Amino acid sequence: MSEFNLIQQYFTRPTPHADLGVGDDAALIRVREGYQLAVSTDMLVSGTHFFADAAPYDIGWKALAVNISDMAAMSAQPKWATLALALPEVNETWLAEFSRGFFACADAFKVSLIGGDTTRGPLNISVTIMGEVATGQALRRDGAKIGDDIWVSGTLGDAALALNLLQQTYTLDKHWPEDELSKWLPALHRPQPRIALGLGLIGLANGAIDISDGLLADLGHILSASNVSATLYFNHLSINLYLHNHANEPAVQHMILAGGDDYELCFTAPQANRSAIEKIGKDLHLTLSLAGSIHAGAGHACVVLNERKQAMAINKTGFDHFA
Ligand code: ADP
Ligand code: MG
Repeated sequence: MSEFNLIQQYFTRPTPHADLGVGDDAALIRVREGYQLAVSTDMLVSGTHFFADAAPYDIGWKALAVNISDMAAMSAQPKWATLALALPEVNETWLAEFSRGFFACADAFKVSLIGGDTTRGPLNISVTIMGEVATGQALRRDGAKIGDDIWVSGTLGDAALALNLLQQTYTLDKHWPEDELSKWLPALHRPQPRIALGLGLIGLANGAIDISDGLLADLGHILSASNVSATLYFNHLSINLYLHNHANEPAVQHMILAGGDDYELCFTAPQANRSAIEKIGKDLHLTLSLAGSIHAGAGHACVVLNERKQAMAINKTGFDHFA
């Protein structure tokens, strides 16, 4: 199969939101009057971001979903994506499943694949996502204000739990039941970007980030960009029952606070907006936890308090490819 047949067969679909999609030297898109173009790229490397033998449908879903999550964090509406693929070989079974997962996510979030590049090499998937955000309305990392509440969507640690159970480096129980793993695997393989939440927070939140590397690491980016510090209440975070029952174990605390791959949103907002934010959570059927507060302090430190209001010792805040 030639490169061009491959692109034609697996990656060419109608692109209703673009003036010109796959097939020319460049795609052509138009941003509406009064909007800014939000652009972000995330790369997935085999062996680092996914197991080489992972289900190709899941890899396709996740490659796009983690990019869409960055749009959610900016309160942008995702619209267009490009896909750069390095493939060791043409495996049509793999490609069919990969593109099915990719387009399932694209359809779920109304994103058009408008271009990309395809080359031979070690399996590597790089997606660039583009979206629209009303001019000046994007939720940025540098927007947190002293006195803001800190909110976290969804439950934290599910993906890290799945990964740990998968890797079997940490078994909560020597005989952890198989169905316990299957409960949390979707969190790892099929992250659900919080687009509706991101859009709903326009005008209500001051700063936001999506949690990809772990809550403490990502909240840390808000703190340094906004030049503030924070206090978090560990027992205000929403976690699954399995983690809850083991929440005294440092390994479990690490999954919750620094595990990564959550793709939830962490955002800060004035206390006056509490009820409006709670209403968004109800409307979206999404847990929103009021988990801490922003205060002055250029140390950009985040103190995590346990239920007895004692500072918890956390030795690693999140995932860093080069640390
Ligand atoms: P050029 O050589 O001019 O860069 P290519 O041969 O690389 O063009 O690509 C041909 C067309 O196919 C372009 O429109 C490009 O954006 C698109 N394309 C290539 N790879 C992919 C892919 N994996 N997914 C979607 N579109 C792709
Ligand atoms: Mg090219």
